[in-house]
Amino acid sequence: MELLKKTAIEQHKALINKEVSAEELVKASIERIEKLDKDLGAFNSLTIESALETAKKVDEKIAKNEEIPLLAGIPTALKDNMNFKGSKTTCSSKILENYVSPYDATIVTKMKENLIPILGKANLDEFAMGSSNENSAFKIVRNPYNLNKVPGGSSGGSAASVSSSEVTLSLGSDTGGSIRLPASFCGIYGFKPTYGRVSRYGLVAFASSLDQIGPFARCTEDLTNLYEVIAGHDTKDSTSLNMEVGNISGNLKKGVKGLRVGVIKELMTEGVEDDVKSVIENSVKTYEKLGAEIKEISLPLLKHSIGVYYIVATAEASSNLARFDGVRYGYRTQNPQNLLEMYCKTRAEGFGPEVKRRIMLGTYALSSGYYDAYYKKAQQLRRLIAQDFDKAFEQVDILVSPTCPTTAFDLNSKADNPLAMYLTDIATISSNLVGAPALSMPAGFDKGGMPVGLQIIAKNLDELTLLQSAYALEQELGIYNQRPNI
Ligand code: GLN
Repeated sequence: MELLKKTAIEQHKALINKEVSAEELVKASIERIEKLDKDLGAFNSLTIESALETAKKVDEKIAKNEEIPLLAGIPTALKDNMNFKGSKTTCSSKILENYVSPYDATIVTKMKENLIPILGKANLDEFAMGSSNENSAFKIVRNPYNLNKVPGGSSGGSAASVSSSEVTLSLGSDTGGSIRLPASFCGIYGFKPTYGRVSRYGLVAFASSLDQIGPFARCTEDLTNLYEVIAGHDTKDSTSLNMEVGNISGNLKKGVKGLRVGVIKELMTEGVEDDVKSVIENSVKTYEKLGAEIKEISLPLLKHSIGVYYIVATAEASSNLARFDGVRYGYRTQNPQNLLEMYCKTRAEGFGPEVKRRIMLGTYALSSGYYDAYYKKAQQLRRLIAQDFDKAFEQVDILVSPTCPTTAFDLNSKADNPLAMYLTDIATISSNLVGAPALSMPAGFDKGGMPVGLQIIAKNLDELTLLQSAYALEQELGIYNQRPNI
């Protein structure tokens, strides 16, 4: 169905004009998943029954000429680290392979209120640890633009499913770039809101001071509309911000005249592929043409962000993942001789190599004698990086850079080299360390036809300027309706 490749707003119009029913739309989406997903691997499981039930409710309302919410009836996927009652929440890990969610995450409750059908749970790197989706315990995800390339991670399934038009929208989680990187590699929009904007209740925790849920979509308006559904204060998450989200969708089209755009110097130099660089330069020129003021901004401490992240994130992960011990959740080893052996074997058998590496790194960084040298130092640097950003935002309204120095890389090309994989996140990690809202949007293609993502970062809480800037550029670049040939 051609409509599947359209944006959610276009699908919404087709629904209210009765050109298609929500049930037909959801069924077409399921058919497409069944056809494509053998190759793509974007889904760990499908939740067809509940999606069809939701679609029926939407159709009843339309039949009665009642108003429906903007995203009602739009096929959507959830990253498989988010609890959706009655569905398996595996985190792409053997340790949770058969774990069924007993409750809904707050984002799911909000999606249900908006009658958004959830079609399934999207594949990811195990416990959201990775940049290529090759760390899933079950299967890899392939890039819809080129099946021999990675889709990016860790929300690889969420990105590939939207890029390939299996679904129209999805949610991912971003701890160090896991929404923005796959959005960039798959040629779609991915947005990490300010830390605390979206409730983490019901998201399986990786690194609690960095984790944030956000939307994937195929245009800025859809991205904004889904963000407005999921954002807002939640008493069930103590880190949730008790602040107004504001009306972003109603103010999206303001334009960028007079906007001060900072180009991050350190992310436009060595290591950035030529094609990526020229696409980003073209976006910057486009901003200038639209009346924005361009400045070069230096963030001297950015180079330490990966080092800081791999102390802070692993320390928090080592603590968060302690709960998976064979007693309370999921997998338990067969016939242990005693309690200790039960714990050890369960975790040795249940976790994959990357997760074990992170737990060991984090445990080491927190151990007595090393705490000051690693964890405390990392926290101090985190503060200094935030000061770099504060200074930058005195001079500019948004910062731009490539989302990644390269386009999507070949499958298996970095899987055995953790350090090379970690370096993929050089442009994205710092926004998580400082809490700032950031997004990736398609800005062009490299010579091989792979998408290039532009990252835009705004100061904390300024989602409005961030999304306005993306919208203005999107309209001028005019490539948001390009889809992979799949
Ligand atoms: N790629 C980073 C990591 O491996 C970020 C992951 C994420 O944002 N969840 O930790």
